[in-house]
Amino acid sequence: MAALCRGRHRWKRIHSLFVLTRNLSGKYDYDLVVIGGGSGGLACSKEAAQLGQKVAVLDYVEPSVKGTKWGLGGTCVNVGCIPKKLMHQAALLGTAVKDAKKFGWQIPGPVCHDWATMADAVQNHVRSLNWGHRVQLQDKKVKYLNVKGSLVDEHTVKGLTKAGKEMVVTAKNIVIATGGRPKYPTNIPGAMEHGITSDDIFWLKKSPGKTLVVGASYVALECAGFLTGIGLDTTVMVRSIALRGFDQQMAGLVTDYMETYGTKIAWKCFPKRVDKLSSGALQVTWIDTQTGSEYKDTYDTVLWAVGRAPETKALGLDKLGVQVNKETGKIVLGADESTSMPNIYAFGDIGEGRPELTPTAIKAGKLLAHRLVGQSTEIMNYDNVPTTVFTPLEYGCVGLSEEEAEKRHGKDGIEVYHAFYKPLEFTVSERNSSQCYIKVVCERDGGQKILGLHLTGPNAGEVTQGFALGFQCGATYSHLLQTVGIHPTCAEEVVKVHITKRSGLDATVTGC
Ligand code: FAD
Ligand code: NAP
Repeated sequence: MAALCRGRHRWKRIHSLFVLTRNLSGKYDYDLVVIGGGSGGLACSKEAAQLGQKVAVLDYVEPSVKGTKWGLGGTCVNVGCIPKKLMHQAALLGTAVKDAKKFGWQIPGPVCHDWATMADAVQNHVRSLNWGHRVQLQDKKVKYLNVKGSLVDEHTVKGLTKAGKEMVVTAKNIVIATGGRPKYPTNIPGAMEHGITSDDIFWLKKSPGKTLVVGASYVALECAGFLTGIGLDTTVMVRSIALRGFDQQMAGLVTDYMETYGTKIAWKCFPKRVDKLSSGALQVTWIDTQTGSEYKDTYDTVLWAVGRAPETKALGLDKLGVQVNKETGKIVLGADESTSMPNIYAFGDIGEGRPELTPTAIKAGKLLAHRLVGQSTEIMNYDNVPTTVFTPLEYGCVGLSEEEAEKRHGKDGIEVYHAFYKPLEFTVSERNSSQCYIKVVCERDGGQKILGLHLTGPNAGEVTQGFALGFQCGATYSHLLQTVGIHPTCAEEVVKVHITKRSGLDATVTGC
């Protein structure tokens, strides 16, 4: 009862604050209300505030099916890029420790990994980021409201607190940046009851143990990669192909490396049911589509990484007539992030056809803020977005896959330069470099404009980021050749690439 009274008291204070702000700003409480305090929403709200707008951001985290909760900052900070990259780093360090012995480090006894220490450190870092975001909002005078938002009309948002209290805020413009959440398969008995998703894995207090990861895209392969790297028995179940949409030769190198690294891959298999045994183990029954046979094995954890669904349920889009794609559930957007309703904008993972990446959400949010205050007309360019899959052997790329370049320009319209190279750091440690590869896809005629650049290897994200600048500037193959390498690096192999696939010559780099 006392807690209820305290809640009521706080609510009254919040409410009177709104009355006050409404009175100060005239027609609307705010110039801009942003629903969703993730990568995109925070960037947009802070930018708009810096441009002199009166801004509020609503962020509310619905706990995962398993009850996992987190703070301000959205998917990337709490259950995405940040904890994922840190756990990837934990795995890379495990490999580095093994390499270290070859470099003379005396490491007595077996090297073991402790999940609880890693998870605690990662979770503490994430909490520090949650706090940092709150401080930044305060410093930039953005009002943060920990409420679940829904649309009432094109100028009005209703907020619902955790305790079920309602509030209403009005704004000249409304931005939706509510992102997405992991999906569970709907037709597999026991999937939701016994499985977890990426919303849970980074917040587990205890090691997931022997894990089955279902799915074969970014999330599945990255999670399986770091779980293997920290020493867990890990299987990936792939129903069709790995990394759909990516260059399939590169995808093959990524999964080949994972298999040599210790990840088991069940190709062309799909789970049929998950049962909890009396021992507490999870028994998974699956079908191998190549043989048609049914198999069973037990796991400590089943991680579903079967894609993400847009977070629109609570928004009331249908009532207002905001157009969504019926198949994907995502909001249909114009190039300027406008929805079908005036004054309502959306971007980030919630937007139909938008890349589901943090940097694109941030950039789109900042550009939108500038346009909303009339400071710019620049719209987000979603072409040439570089990306990296943080698997044990990282894969970075920008531009078209070889398949897509061939589709658009014809097989004879492209020239593919390629090289298999050995990172210097793999030599002394005697690591297998068979999957370290570079592929530069160019137009065959004219200036040989680069259409796509792909590489697998250590620090592929860092390397790709640099080349993405050249790509954005319209680099050609001759620009690449004119560029002087930095020796000895993996990146220099990109500017040295000279064997064409068409020639059939051995593409293995020998010597410097
Ligand atoms: P989000 O960051 O998801 O933020 C949306 C926010 O809105 C959330 O806090 C949500 O709780 C809140 N919300 C939802 N509904 C409401 C409501 N009605 N009212 C109030 N608040 C609401 N991208 C990369 O670029 N690099 C990576 O390495 C990378 N790794 C990833 C790893 C994993 C495991 C996952 C799942 C994703 C990864 N991503 C990565 C993708 C990246 O996290 C997303 O693209 C990015 O976070 C999208 O930002 P957003 O602003 O659109 O939405
Ligand atoms: P995704 O790219 O949509 O891939 C879903 C995967 O699950 C596919 O391999 C799909 O196989 C498989 N799948 C779907 N339903 C299945 C089922 N019922 N049974 C078995 N397999 C099933 O999803 P995601 O990996 O969750 O990634 C979501 C987005 O997050 C990505 O698009 C990416 O932009 C972002 N992300 C980025 C990074 C990064 O930048 N490093 C990292 C993680 C996530 P099919 O191919 O057969 O359909």
